[in-house]
Amino acid sequence: MPSPAPENQILIIGGGIAGLSLASALAGHTGVVLLEAEAVLGYHTSSRSARQLIPSYGPAPVQDLTLRTLALIREMEAELPQPILTPRSFLLVGGEEDVRDQASGHMHPITMAEAAGLAPELDAGSFEAAGLDTTSVSCDTGRLMDWHRARIESSGGRILTSRRVEAAERTAAGDWRVTAAGEQFAAATVVNAAGAWADGIAQLFGVRPRRLQPYRRTAAIVEAANPPAPDGPMVASALETFYYRPDSGGVLVSPSEAVPSGPEDARHRPEDIDALIALVNSVTSLGLGEVRRAWTGLRTEAPDGLPVVGFDDAVPGFFWLAGQGGYGFQTSSGIAELAAAQLLGTQPPVDVSASLSPARPEV
Ligand SMILES: Cc1cc2nc3c(=O)[nH]c(=O)nc-3n(C[C@H](O)[C@H](O)[C@H](O)COP(=O)(O)OP(=O)(O)OC[C@H]3O[C@@H](n4cnc5c(N)ncnc54)[C@H](O)[C@@H]3O)c2cc1C
Repeated sequence: MPSPAPENQILIIGGGIAGLSLASALAGHTGVVLLEAEAVLGYHTSSRSARQLIPSYGPAPVQDLTLRTLALIREMEAELPQPILTPRSFLLVGGEEDVRDQASGHMHPITMAEAAGLAPELDAGSFEAAGLDTTSVSCDTGRLMDWHRARIESSGGRILTSRRVEAAERTAAGDWRVTAAGEQFAAATVVNAAGAWADGIAQLFGVRPRRLQPYRRTAAIVEAANPPAPDGPMVASALETFYYRPDSGGVLVSPSEAVPSGPEDARHRPEDIDALIALVNSVTSLGLGEVRRAWTGLRTEAPDGLPVVGFDDAVPGFFWLAGQGGYGFQTSSGIAELAAAQLLGTQPPVDVSASLSPARPEV
């Protein structure tokens, strides 16, 4: 099949949840080619998340996009034999002030006695206050990504893996000519959805980077002597020192660290997991023990913590879709809908484009 003319083609760089969600929102409306450097989609951060969507988590534009994403995923679920989302409350525990500062939107304060009723494994004496978000859900991220992939392919979009973008130039006609794994692609518009590599991709295209910083975050599935109830909440410390959740018969646990890193295939450090297990065991009766599996991913953030979405203000035909930090799944479909509207020149239902603009002074 001949490729569409460059003016009808959008090239997306990055096959994580960001690039896939946008390609799926665009497919059927314009030609779409998605280039992923790795041999499989979602190899980096998108296969390493905690898979939880929390409407009360993050600044206001993120919360708006999270609610929109939940609504859009519920529409997808209507087409599927099995759900993508499973209800799972989010319980925040900590000092009075720390909990109060974060209890916004869908989170409401509850007593420590109520918290202990929901999560009996907690040592209630270790915390002063609690907040509960009952609208939070766990997400089958693999099923979500499969849904996007199927929609892209059934709408004529192309997904090409093992295509690391390594060079870019402008043609005389003003389009981009992009080289990936020795192959050339032409497009009027390029979308930068390269996660931790997004600033590097910008430089390849002669675009000013936006001080996007990848931060390490580790998680593990650990055996517990006294596992929490399978339908128990995700429990997080308001000081961001740990979170845990029942998962796969064990406990998913994270030290919630945010350690700056370069863009890389991040690897966990066993000593971080050992310290985490000791901490969680000191404030719960879970009795965490053997580590089944551990991993580290990179959460990439702009200086103000908001995603960077929109056309670059200086270089035509270059579109940003980066800096989703710890909200990449919970904002995925809302951001994709917003980005697709900007690319297609339509009006999105939830328009937070000014807050996410690559032209804002903070980036
Ligand atoms: C431990 C942990 C827990 C998390 N928990 C949650 C959670 O519960 N809920 C939530 O919403 N979010 C969570 N997140 C954040 C979420 O995972 C990310 O925001 C999201 O996955 C980012 O997606 P992305 O597509 O931007 O990046 P990525 O998944 O990293 O995708 C970017 C892709 O670009 C590709 N790429 C880079 N350079 C090139 C190139 N030159 N050519 C072609 N391709 C290239 C990469 O190979 C990569 O596949 C968590 C993250 C971590 C690490």
